[in-house]
Amino acid sequence: MIGDPDAQFVGRRRALIEKVREHGSTDLRILKLFDEVPRHRFLPEGVWNRAYEDAPIPIGFRQTASQPSLQARYLEILSPTTDDTVLEIGTGSGYLTALLARMADRVYSVERIRELSVRARKALDDLEVRNVALMVGDGTIGWRKYAPYDVIVVSAAAPSVPQAYVDQLADGGRMLIPVGALDAQRLVLVRKDGFAVTEEPVGDVTFVPLLGKFAFSEDQG
Ligand code: SAH
Repeated sequence: MIGDPDAQFVGRRRALIEKVREHGSTDLRILKLFDEVPRHRFLPEGVWNRAYEDAPIPIGFRQTASQPSLQARYLEILSPTTDDTVLEIGTGSGYLTALLARMADRVYSVERIRELSVRARKALDDLEVRNVALMVGDGTIGWRKYAPYDVIVVSAAAPSVPQAYVDQLADGGRMLIPVGALDAQRLVLVRKDGFAVTEEPVGDVTFVPLLGKFAFSEDQG
C-alpha cells in the first residue's frame, strides 16, 4: 500500500529474522511469526527506529521488551500448540503475548504496571488478536481462575519458582522462568508429569525482576 507507515519496516523485520536464525532458532513456524507480527507496534513510537534490533528495548516504567532471539528460544522450547492454554507473567509490551496467541488456543497474561497493560491491549486490538485476556495485578500468585495451564511463560526474574505456578501448571505442562539474583539468572525449564516436577537449567539470562508477594520485594525494582 502506498503511504503505508508500516511498509518501511518490512526489510528490517527480515533482517531481524536472519539474526534470530543465527542465534540457533530454525523452526520455520516460529520464524514466520516474527515476520507476521510487527514488533514496532508494541513499542513506544520514540523507539520504533530500534524495533527490529535483536536487543531488549526500553518501553518506559523502567521495563524493557525482551530480546527477540531469546523470545524465539522460549517459543521453541515451550512449543505451544493450538490446543494449549498459556499463562504469561509480565505482559510488558505485549509482543510475546501476540506471538504466543498465534501458536496457542488462549493466552492469559498478567502485568503489574497498568499503563503497560493498557498499551499492550491497544496494540493487540489494532492487530485483531482476539484470544488474549489481560489482567493487571501481582502475577507472582499466577491467575487461578483459568488454571491449569499447559504452558507458563515468565518474562521477569524470580529468586525461586513461585509455588502458585507449579500448582497452576497442567499435567504434562511446561514452564520457563528466569531464576536467580537480581543481576543474573538461569533460565529454568520446569515440567510436570503426574506428581513429578522436574527443573532443568537451559541457559544464562538477565531479566528485569519479578516484583511481588512471592518474588523480589517492590522496592528492589
Ligand atoms: N515479554 C515482555 C517482557 C517485559 S519485561 C516483552 O517482551 O515486552 C517484564 C515485565 O514483567 C515488566 O513489564 C514488568 O512490569 C512485569 N512484572 C514484574 N513483576 C511482575 C508481577 N509480579 N506481576 C506481573 N508482571 C510483573
